[in-house]
Amino acid sequence: MKKRIAVVGSTGSIGRQTLEVAAAQPEALEVVALAAGSNSRVLADQVRQVKPGVAVLWEEEPAGELREALRDLRVGTGDCPVRVSSGMPGLLEMVTASDVDTVVMAVSGCIGLEPTLAALQAGKQVALANKETLVAGGELVMAWARLRPGSLVPVDSEHSAIWQCLSEDTRDVTGLVLTASGGPFRTWDENRLAAAKPADALRHPNWQMGPKITIDSATLMNKGLEVIEAHHLFDMPYETIDVLVHPQSVVHSMVVYSDGAVIAQMGIPDMRLPIQYALSYPRRWPCSPTPVLAGQGLTFEKVNEARFPALGLAYDCGRRGGLMPAVMNAANEVCVQAFLREEIAYPRIYEVVKDICGRFDHKEALSLANVLAADAWARREAENVCRIGWNISCDEGGGCR
Ligand code: NDP
Ligand code: MG
Repeated sequence: MKKRIAVVGSTGSIGRQTLEVAAAQPEALEVVALAAGSNSRVLADQVRQVKPGVAVLWEEEPAGELREALRDLRVGTGDCPVRVSSGMPGLLEMVTASDVDTVVMAVSGCIGLEPTLAALQAGKQVALANKETLVAGGELVMAWARLRPGSLVPVDSEHSAIWQCLSEDTRDVTGLVLTASGGPFRTWDENRLAAAKPADALRHPNWQMGPKITIDSATLMNKGLEVIEAHHLFDMPYETIDVLVHPQSVVHSMVVYSDGAVIAQMGIPDMRLPIQYALSYPRRWPCSPTPVLAGQGLTFEKVNEARFPALGLAYDCGRRGGLMPAVMNAANEVCVQAFLREEIAYPRIYEVVKDICGRFDHKEALSLANVLAADAWARREAENVCRIGWNISCDEGGGCR
């Protein structure tokens, strides 16, 4: 029987590669629903190619454009009677629909949290690329995922690697080692970093990814988010999760066992491999990636925490737990966008996120409503700081102190 998949974020880097994997496995996979943010043009092309029953755009106006662009199909003259909807109601309906087996969550940012929870609650399997969801709401998501083993499978390459290195019995696992390419700024000194531009940060040496994760890879916040993601996915304490810089991106991560054995997973840096594994598990499907290892030296080094302080901040927020990771994540999302628009300098991404985390009064219990409220608070604060300046913040009514 074919696995019927819904792809949330189909027009992005992971989404497009998911559609490539699905196109290469027509016997095993059928794409039944697609969703994106506002890119009606690419989504219309994908609908014509893939012929899903449902297409969702987050924004209402582009959803109208999509309806218009697919008019011939919708009136039944084509072979794809696609239904177009929009917003969170559209996403929630799409991921919980009865004809969906697996949701590939490939949206960028914490916006994926509600649909991920809804899909798990509806008994769907979720193949999760969207790490911000686990950072912001890891305990809420895992509470549902644990009810049905196998209902949440990782797509992020490091977590896929760890998943592949874990034996059935995890009692003897003593540590995880996440590898990091080191990003475009691995060898840059503080002076150069202070003047880094978005174009520099977007030049990732090994991976072609969306802009948000590429900037996170430059600051190493991406690795920080992944440490929190690994903590939740594999139920490992933070002190057992280590990070090593491995510029070749061939070893995707490692698991350390009590007898000192270290099991690593290797492969070329190509996200189609972990995407495919998430969808083929427990089988492996043949594909023809280039062989990896001939003539290539593999090196590993410690992270320079002075030049990449975001990693330490993420460990700290992860350890504090509760709503703090959601606050850190939301502030980071805002700062990355502000940096991409050249509204703040590169070092300010870390400085502003740290400032917002330091100001968060961390009392409320963990619930979806409180995660969303903490996320909204952090976004407002970060937007104010980015817009107005360092150490100036505005209260809810807009008055500045
Ligand atoms: P992209 O920016 O390339 O794509 C994001 C996708 O999400 C686009 O399809 C975008 O649509 C869509 N989107 C944005 N907002 C919404 C919304 N509100 N509702 C529905 N769809 C929306 O990101 P990536 O593919 O690079 O990353 C996706 C996730 O996967 C991130 O969490 C990232 O950290 C993670 N990841 C990515 C890897 C990679 O190699 N790219 C590797 C490992 C993890 P539109 O085009 O219309 O804006
Ligand atoms: Mg990764």
